[in-house]
Amino acid sequence: MLLGNCTTATRSISEQLDRPLTRGQRVRLRVHLLACRGCRAYASQLATLRLATRIVSGQSDVGATSTSNAAPF
Ligand SMILES: [Zn+2]
Repeated sequence: MLLGNCTTATRSISEQLDRPLTRGQRVRLRVHLLACRGCRAYASQLATLRLATRIVSGQSDVGATSTSNAAPF
């Protein structure tokens, strides 16, 4: 399972919004996102949702580096 699977990938996508991933997790997630359009879309939607939630709740840490490894669209 070189590229990992979508269950692991989506879990990592969620986790990276709350805490830094390990180096191994980041590498696996990045490789998976390169290969999996579905998980790229999930990552994008989740990041947008989190951003919107933060804006609505008045938090000002928008632009945190935790999403900087998201794949380009
Ligand atoms: Zn996937």
